[in-house]
Amino acid sequence: MPATPPSNKALVPFVSVENMMNLVHHIGIEPMLRGLADYIEEDFRRWELFDKTPRIASHSAEGVIELMPTSDGEVYGFKYVNGHPKNTKEGLQTVTAFGLLADVGNGYPVLLSEMTVLTALRTAATSAMVAKHLAPKGADTMAMIGNGAQSEFQSLAMKAICGLKSVRLWDIDPAATRKAASNLKGLGLGVHVCNSAEESMEGAQIITTCTADKQYATILSDNMVGSGVHINAIGGDCPGKTELAPGVLHRSEIFVEYPEQTRIEGEIQQLGQDHPVTQMWEVINGTKPGRTSAGQITLFDSVGFAIEDFSALRYIRDHIGGTDLYMDLDLLADPDDPRDLFGMLQRAGR
Ligand code: NAD
Repeated sequence: MPATPPSNKALVPFVSVENMMNLVHHIGIEPMLRGLADYIEEDFRRWELFDKTPRIASHSAEGVIELMPTSDGEVYGFKYVNGHPKNTKEGLQTVTAFGLLADVGNGYPVLLSEMTVLTALRTAATSAMVAKHLAPKGADTMAMIGNGAQSEFQSLAMKAICGLKSVRLWDIDPAATRKAASNLKGLGLGVHVCNSAEESMEGAQIITTCTADKQYATILSDNMVGSGVHINAIGGDCPGKTELAPGVLHRSEIFVEYPEQTRIEGEIQQLGQDHPVTQMWEVINGTKPGRTSAGQITLFDSVGFAIEDFSALRYIRDHIGGTDLYMDLDLLADPDDPRDLFGMLQRAGR
């Protein structure tokens, strides 16, 4: 046993998966999705303040591991996230994540958190926040294509933020659709199980594609998409991994998070580097138009950007105070005399 316990001055709050789930129930999932969307929208409004870089990706044959850093000058944040479409066959998640916030002033971490659940929440909150700006007026029905881990979050966020009334589910794996339909039961959405992507799109003003496949897939071909819809394209988020036929892209007004990253990872990797896109933060600020006509096809080419994770971590930091839904981690060596790191180590062995 160490004679002198290490100094524990600089403890770092840590939100585990269990505590994140408890926090969601403590706040309520729909209020939390709305709160996250507000934080994300607030950070999109101050977009120019942030350090921005395309995420740093390490690709393999099976998937990708990425780091997503950003800073607003006062707080620094990053997320570690993977994407492995084959994982579900082995009983593992396609996407898992954790993240950190730190004080730019002294570099000390101020929050460490699980982000697998939080990524699903923030991705859904971002989708719905964007749809609030771009979807046709009165949109109340969504086709949900790909009924995996993200799908219920996507559906509920559209309900909580855009007033969605009905979701039409389609997945090539009927077990995924059964799971999503059962999870969404009793949550205030009409749920329709469909037999094809085409059927899921009947009467839908919002089309969400959220499939996982490491290839140029064609979830939506050109002839499937009519005018006056909003496409929320979530699943194409890696080089060589897309969901939409180029014809759909050519007929759409395309909105993105950070073009430098989306041109590498998004649906628009299939287009020329100079194909025009609108950055969502400019629509939110009112400097660029969003939807300009009822007949237009708007497309949110979502890949997930670091600022959304930063906003989500900021939301968690602001909401764990006064709860017991975190634990203090002894993560940082912090000797009483900052130059006596070795002395602290020596004393721990006596
Ligand atoms: P998941 O593996 O849990 O679910 C994917 C589902 O897609 C599966 O049920 C699978 O059967 C279905 N599918 C595959 N091909 C299909 C097809 N042709 N038609 C219909 N369904 C099909 O994955 P998930 O966690 O739900 O993530 C889905 C995708 O979203 C992944 O590609 C992931 O990388 C991406 N993602 C993007 C963001 C973002 O910010 N844009 C965030 C999280 C995840």
